Amino acid sequence: MVQFLFNGCGTGTGDLVADIYLNRKVDSVLSLMTTEEKLGQMNLLTSDWDVTGPTMRDTYMEDIRAGRCGNIFNAHTVDYNRKLQQIAVEETRLGIPLLFGYDVIHGHKTIFPIPLAEACSWNLELMERSAMLAAREAAASGLHWTFAPMVDLSRDPRWGRVSEGNGEDPLLGGLIAEARVKGFQGEDLSDPFTLAACVKHFAAYGAPQAGRDYHTVDMSELHFREYYLPPYRKGIEAGAVSVMASFNDLFGIPATASSYLLTDLLRNEMHFTGFVVSDYSGIEQLQDHGVAADRQHAGELALLAGVDMDMQSAIFAETLARSLEEGKIRMQDIDAAVRRILRIKFRLGLFDDPYRYLNEEREAEVIFSEELMEHALVSARESVVLLKNEPVNGKKILPLSSPGRIAVIGPLADNQLDMLGSWHAAGDHTKVVTLLEGIRKRFSGAEIRYSEGCDFYSEDRSGFGRAISLARNSDVVVLAIGETQDQSGEAASRSIPDIPGIQEELALELIQTGTPVVVMIMAERPLIFPRLNESASAIFYAWHLGTRAGDALADILSGAYNPSGKLVMSIPRNAGQIPVYYNTKSTGRPADPNNRFTSKYLDVPNEPLYPFGFGLSYTDFSCREFQLQDTLMGMNDTLHLSVSVKNTGAYDGHETVQLYVRDLVGSVTRPVKELKDFQKIFLAAGEERTLHFTLTTDDLKFIGKNLEYMTEPGDFRVFVGPDSERLLEATFTLVKNN
Ligand code: BGC
Repeated sequence: MVQFLFNGCGTGTGDLVADIYLNRKVDSVLSLMTTEEKLGQMNLLTSDWDVTGPTMRDTYMEDIRAGRCGNIFNAHTVDYNRKLQQIAVEETRLGIPLLFGYDVIHGHKTIFPIPLAEACSWNLELMERSAMLAAREAAASGLHWTFAPMVDLSRDPRWGRVSEGNGEDPLLGGLIAEARVKGFQGEDLSDPFTLAACVKHFAAYGAPQAGRDYHTVDMSELHFREYYLPPYRKGIEAGAVSVMASFNDLFGIPATASSYLLTDLLRNEMHFTGFVVSDYSGIEQLQDHGVAADRQHAGELALLAGVDMDMQSAIFAETLARSLEEGKIRMQDIDAAVRRILRIKFRLGLFDDPYRYLNEEREAEVIFSEELMEHALVSARESVVLLKNEPVNGKKILPLSSPGRIAVIGPLADNQLDMLGSWHAAGDHTKVVTLLEGIRKRFSGAEIRYSEGCDFYSEDRSGFGRAISLARNSDVVVLAIGETQDQSGEAASRSIPDIPGIQEELALELIQTGTPVVVMIMAERPLIFPRLNESASAIFYAWHLGTRAGDALADILSGAYNPSGKLVMSIPRNAGQIPVYYNTKSTGRPADPNNRFTSKYLDVPNEPLYPFGFGLSYTDFSCREFQLQDTLMGMNDTLHLSVSVKNTGAYDGHETVQLYVRDLVGSVTRPVKELKDFQKIFLAAGEERTLHFTLTTDDLKFIGKNLEYMTEPGDFRVFVGPDSERLLEATFTLVKNN
């Protein structure tokens, strides 16, 4: 092993001198490397600990030993990663440390709610803290790098991976991307309690045709830049040191082979300086896309487009030396990629001490620590969305006032595994508190009985009888239905994303007993449930909430926590409405019930069942006195707006007040509403507060017809309220300065 002659972990990107110094260190290593060793640094292989894709390569240890593999994913724990690191550091010629990556998406061992659920908290600090704590736990488990945050905007709940994202809004999605990157990476990458982040999947992976995973994506560039690009941009601006190229094609070229996306846009326009990793065998798949004739060709396309690291195709390692000999690529292309990767290894401090993340004591201390478990509860509570709470016999069911007999029913009611969600990393389902357990703890004086009722897939109604009889003999039913964790996530598209199997039938029969039923829909995407919605009086969207799911839900049922989540994705009425989203265009024939020849359906309204931003509380809030400081705004002005919000109900609670804008006349068509700001506030029962918002011309910018980012003078409507539909409105005019 060669001894590297330097100390100090490296730098943030802001410090120019330190950056030069870092580059020197990188070059000093690069100058020692053979072509094969360089290609090894560009190779990322999975261990056999976890399988997150179709191909395995069981020779990964041999590859590490031979210097053919510089990066490993799906391996964790101090013990195991030390074994692998020792091979790299002690048995290879140069001893360059391995980089360990993993999908730490919403927790590592302690699992937080799925990202889509957590986004419904509209609480950026909370999400930053989730990422920070997940990083701490994963880093303690020997990891350096997470394949997160996933920031793909999506309007299509048929696509199973909406679960990993932040919903349908570019502004909120961008703010969450920023919060999560900051949370994962902290102030300094060399801090061994943080992880390097990876903004993924670049780009527009969330818009596959018909919601089918990996399918073609095609849209105008204007549309792409306006809606899909902003969250990636925010994640990169927040300092993410890596980006993952997406599986899909866009503008006719697979992202993995798109020099427009990976070089022109990402590096030249967005000034990204980290490294780009392909997705799982994404390079190999260029052959199936039909743009590469063979593996070697695929490798050349990916490298020349801007991919630096090859995840699991092993094509760079196997074929680029030949491409070099044949003059298809240049050594400087390889060197540029290796430099970018080594820079991050330096910044992580791995050259100073390759074992610095590998400490058994720390691992034992941090994993499932009290702080993590407490945060899992806090985050789960804030993620739940109350959709309906209507009176039964003149009285609202929720919160449950010390019921004597509770029937807990449904295939998700006492289910640990599914609570972890589809990307549960190293999550341990035996630690999960189920809904049933949570209710037992919280309502200790009550008589609690449980029945599964049915499963997710079959037509077997044999459990209905017992469930119905429990319901008849109880004061209230808490029913948990929805999806399993593998009915969402990657490769889990559904053409009709309804509540699977006969669960909805079970729900309807339970409701017919006359006993009040609280429905908990546990899923990872907006499901379609119009019939149930019609009959049920109380509905929660309860997602897959992670390790503390049951405690959080019991706190909410009892009123110990007043629900505050707001949807970040519209819930459709039926599958034919998809994509249905709030920031739609007006069209030339906006829907008019009295005019047939307008843009609408004959069989269903245009509006979703529940809109973006929607979520109830046990208390009521009212917004009034929406005031603009002026109705004219100059190009350099700041417009001040205020609204008074009152908690008019009987409980203390949180409200998220949302501010939307519509540009009434533009040189390109503009959405009917765009989220521009929001504030989540806490108001005690009876309390009233005036909230202040500001708008600047930056907030009014959009992508013009020549793809420039611009502001146009003219009239704007501005809205404020508790969701994207129930809004107070006013108008103002943006005027050119004289
Ligand atoms: C997914 C990525 C993930 C990777 C590694 C792929 O199949 O698309 O999001 O990071 O596997 O597990």
